[in-house]
Amino acid sequence: MGIIVQKFGGTSVADPQKIHNVAKAVIREKENGNDVVVVVSAMGHTTDYLIKLAKEVTNNPDSREMDMLLSTGEQVSIALLSMAIQSNGYKALSMNGQQVGIITECIHSKARIVDIKTEKLNKYLREGNIIVVAGFQGVTPEGEITTLGRGGSDTSAVAIAAALNAERCDIYTDVEGVYATDPRIVPNIKKADIISYEEMLELARVGANVLHPRSVETAKQFNVPLRVRSSFKLDNLGTLIIGVENMEIYKPVAGVAADSSQVRILLSNLPDIPGTAAKLFTALADNNISVDMIIQSLANNGTNSIAFTVDSDDLDTALKILKEQKGTVQAGEILTDKDISKVSIVGAGMVDRPGIAADMFKALADNNINIKMISTSEIKISCLVEKQNANKAIKALCKKFDLESENIAVVKGDLPEV
Ligand code: ADP
Ligand code: ASP
Ligand code: MG
Repeated sequence: MGIIVQKFGGTSVADPQKIHNVAKAVIREKENGNDVVVVVSAMGHTTDYLIKLAKEVTNNPDSREMDMLLSTGEQVSIALLSMAIQSNGYKALSMNGQQVGIITECIHSKARIVDIKTEKLNKYLREGNIIVVAGFQGVTPEGEITTLGRGGSDTSAVAIAAALNAERCDIYTDVEGVYATDPRIVPNIKKADIISYEEMLELARVGANVLHPRSVETAKQFNVPLRVRSSFKLDNLGTLIIGVENMEIYKPVAGVAADSSQVRILLSNLPDIPGTAAKLFTALADNNISVDMIIQSLANNGTNSIAFTVDSDDLDTALKILKEQKGTVQAGEILTDKDISKVSIVGAGMVDRPGIAADMFKALADNNINIKMISTSEIKISCLVEKQNANKAIKALCKKFDLESENIAVVKGDLPEV
């Protein structure tokens, strides 16, 4: 038997009773003869609470101190889960990111893992321990505590599975697998038994927050078989995420997702000369700001306008940089639009299949939803719509692409309305 990495999210460890349920799921895997490493998130809404607390102290908390604060959430859960496992007579040991040696770059609040030390993990496993690791956190080579971005415990789990050459990484959560869209928005939605890394990666990137995008990226890179499954129904196998080479037939659209965390920035009256876009986007990149959709259009008067989207957390910094660049690139106005949501359809089966984009636009038009911006890639089409239309758009697209089911997806736990 091999090593199994299990990850339990915030709702799965929200209170002592749920922590005991998790302990049972962990012990069950150990009893199957496997070595088990468990990765856990902070309890319930702890991370949200800690962010709120920081904002009550200052409007502009320092990013190093934020990481110091947020990393405490996961440390509470690992200690409690270890105690729960031990109370059942099993050997368990909790470890934070620093103790394991989850080495990251030094970018606070969205650090990437660069290395995971396996010596201690292997030693403690050999000694018969179940190891409980704090998700979402790492440490820089200089000893600074970092976090991996919201939802990052998934990535901690997959990266540990890759480093240990684990047989599988199971992501236990409050739904029964990966659905064609968020079951909170469309309750009668189809569940996937199997989905490719490629489709899951795109879905996660465009807002299906059931998995942190970098967890899927890592699983794909190291070929880690990944399962999303329910913490509450342990016998259900959930959804298996594997390499595209193992799959044959694709539906044109595997899933629909929306992302309301972006803002649109528009620069008008830019001179139509080489180098303008390069200067703007280099300045943004130098400040670690990722840009998503970009559209440049030429007006009748021979000037360009460039519209693009950034994460709303980056808006203030982006505007500051763009104002500094305004003179250099001779831009006219800088406008922002916060009332946007990016709605996307994803499917490996849309490659070489004409008409999918037209079907998407038609479904939106039939529901009187205006499109503000469009972007496409090989297996994805995204449309910017008004925020208030996002859920309506998702429902319309699920209907259009036959993603509805006769069954209501079972949504367990205290899921808030979205
Ligand atoms: P955890 O705390 O376990 O990490 P998350 O809240 O991060 O849980 O992820 C699970 C949630 O993801 C579900 O409750 C569901 O509402 C949401 N979700 C969004 N898109 C999807 C999807 N396509 N399939 C399943 N769940 C999804
Ligand atoms: N606790 C962190 C968050 O709420 C990380 C995670 O849950 O994956 O984002
Ligand atoms: Mg999550």
